Amino acid sequence: MSGKRFKGKLCVYCVKRPSVTGDHVFAREFFTIGSRDRLPQAPTCDLCNNDKSKLEHYLTALLPFGGRHTEAAANLIEQVPSRLAKNLRLVRELKAARGLSWHFEQGLYRQAMTLPLDPEKTLLLFEFIGRGLAWFHWQVYLQPEQKSRALFLSKTGTKYFNGIFSMNAAARVVEDLGKGTVTYMGAQAVDLRELTLWRIQLYGGIAFTGDPAAPGEVTTEVAVVTGPKRLVDSLVQHSG
Ligand SMILES: [Zn+2]
Repeated sequence: MSGKRFKGKLCVYCVKRPSVTGDHVFAREFFTIGSRDRLPQAPTCDLCNNDKSKLEHYLTALLPFGGRHTEAAANLIEQVPSRLAKNLRLVRELKAARGLSWHFEQGLYRQAMTLPLDPEKTLLLFEFIGRGLAWFHWQVYLQPEQKSRALFLSKTGTKYFNGIFSMNAAARVVEDLGKGTVTYMGAQAVDLRELTLWRIQLYGGIAFTGDPAAPGEVTTEVAVVTGPKRLVDSLVQHSG
């Protein structure tokens, strides 16, 4: 795929430096080799591309363990061993096996597993993804007083978010990439084009975390909100 059309634009992530290439909004590594065509891309500068890559390497080594989508088995077998081999520190962390609980209902692993998935890194990556999707679908660049913020959607949060989603939107989008590897829906506000909302599932609804107050509850969706800082914070506060 040619990166030419992404050169010399503004980077969607920092909105400061010129882009040098197209960034895959969802890293190619999330997908099996056969499912990497036509993935969303957005212009990025080198620095942002590097920062985002680090987060992607971390998460793509861990996330397939929780996969429940059609390609979960292929993804795990094909890709994870080499990633773990390259990341000895991660292997040590896995052996320590403390952290978030992963909930498998009908996945590859019947028994519960605990992986030290870092929620901050996960959410940081999704904040990049929100910026990338807003640009890819609606050519939105966030302004300096605007931001992208991600959160794990609780049950209550999902209800609240559904409410916002059902309001009038200038545009909506629903996508399924790589047979359920990544599914997402997005909406763009009518009066404020930088205000966008996203609900994203990875790997057929991976379980990210349990709410400590409600141990049985599993969070399978991440939401991202982009727009004016105060508005974004207020929306996220009500959705968590
Ligand atoms: Zn940048």
